[in-house]
Amino acid sequence: MPSLNDASSAVWAPPVGVAAPRNLCTDCGISRTADAHRCGRACQFIQPDYSGMEAQVHGRPRDESRPDELYFGPFKRMAQARLNPALAGAQWTGIATRIAEKLLQTGAVDAVLTMAPDSQDKWKPVPVLVTKPEGMSQVRGMRMGYAPLLSLLEPALAKGYKRLAVIGIPCQVYALRALEKELGFERLYVIGTPCSDNTTTEKFHTFLALLSEAPETITYLEFRADYHVELRFVDGRKKEIPFLQLPISQLPPDFFPMTCRTCVDYTNVLADITVGYMAGQGEQWLIIRNERGEELAALLGEELVTSEPGSAGKRAGAVKGFLKNTELAAGGLPLRRMPNFMRHIVGWLMPRVGPRGLEFARARVEMKAVETILHLRRAHKARMKWIVPTHVWRLVAPYGITPRDGEQKDST
Ligand SMILES: Cc1cc2nc3c(=O)[nH]c(=O)nc-3n(C[C@H](O)[C@H](O)[C@H](O)COP(=O)(O)OP(=O)(O)OC[C@H]3O[C@@H](n4cnc5c(N)ncnc54)[C@H](O)[C@@H]3O)c2cc1C
Ligand code: SF4
Ligand code: SF4
Repeated sequence: MPSLNDASSAVWAPPVGVAAPRNLCTDCGISRTADAHRCGRACQFIQPDYSGMEAQVHGRPRDESRPDELYFGPFKRMAQARLNPALAGAQWTGIATRIAEKLLQTGAVDAVLTMAPDSQDKWKPVPVLVTKPEGMSQVRGMRMGYAPLLSLLEPALAKGYKRLAVIGIPCQVYALRALEKELGFERLYVIGTPCSDNTTTEKFHTFLALLSEAPETITYLEFRADYHVELRFVDGRKKEIPFLQLPISQLPPDFFPMTCRTCVDYTNVLADITVGYMAGQGEQWLIIRNERGEELAALLGEELVTSEPGSAGKRAGAVKGFLKNTELAAGGLPLRRMPNFMRHIVGWLMPRVGPRGLEFARARVEMKAVETILHLRRAHKARMKWIVPTHVWRLVAPYGITPRDGEQKDST
């Protein structure tokens, strides 16, 4: 790979500043910018305003008469989708990469802000500015962990890149949107991916080491919507492990940081387009949220093959089971206690009778909401009234979880 430090190359990684110490922080990069105090108004872990930000970005907050907006945020339409032909090396079929590539090809943007793999550790994300379409092939695929994406906003502006596309995870996109007006970009396209259960790259290596005797040979990992983790190896082998057979019990209780157990925006509600897989039933899942999102999807023309997302099964039992296990774990990882032979049977049954398509995505969003409340109650009760939006309380209400004294802004 050419040097990422060279500003004239297709992929440029300028040096980043030092992070200011912060509690509940995923180091999105804002604390490393010239004005670190902006965290106070930019951070989803300090005092977020989701409905206000949704109105600012999409022209309206989520609409209660469209039930799926409670789960997935405002959208114009959703689709099951794939890129044809798929891009080699992409996490799924490469929709995120191809949109950004097209933006660069058509001259709609000066640069794309996203993550490249670190030259020493392919799993570690490094924030970069991609300025030529061919550079996008170097950033395809998923890294595990978070890195200071937004610390490159200032270098981008200083270089004169005023029309920018950003590919980011929800905690990065929230801060970007909160500061969008004051940053002064002429045009901003936001391609979001969903995100959950992230952890530091260092901790992720512990997980890889439990999955293979030669973890350095693993080239790809994905938690698929059919309840399997897919691994790919350097020699072309593939391995599929049912969720229930993952070695979760061997992970340390703090494997997932508190941020990633308690963030409330699974589906990246402030992106113009969200590119995920959860409701895709083996394909990708697009949430096109506004006109700019339509513009981004249209860039792909006939390369984008879409169909209506399906929905099957019932989520309530799965979410109740998750709630119970999270309560029993008391801050550790929610393990399912069941004998090994049962794990095999349930592991076989889940993809066949468990929630699928949109129902799977709703189940995951509800589980994340449940997890948020239980962990914040235990570890950061005083912050709850500031960081848990009303819609999250509505998501957990069917499972008997309601706000207690002091947990909402209008109570003490
Ligand atoms: C930590 C993490 C957790 C995720 N969890 C879910 C989930 O639970 N459900 C779901 O539907 N989708 C999830 N996704 C998104 C999913 O893995 C795919 O990235 C998405 O479906 C796009 O696929 P693609 O083939 O279009 O992406 P590609 O064309 O391969 O492009 C992926 C883009 O993501 C960027 N990227 C890679 N790693 C990171 C990172 N660590 N942080 C920020 N940006 C990164 C790359 O630089 C690239 O631009 C997650 C992504 C990440 C990074
Ligand atoms: S805005 Fe970003 S850097 Fe600042 S506290 Fe939040 S996550 Fe950390
Ligand atoms: S799980 Fe949430 S807090 Fe953690 S990296 Fe993903 S979006 Fe950010």
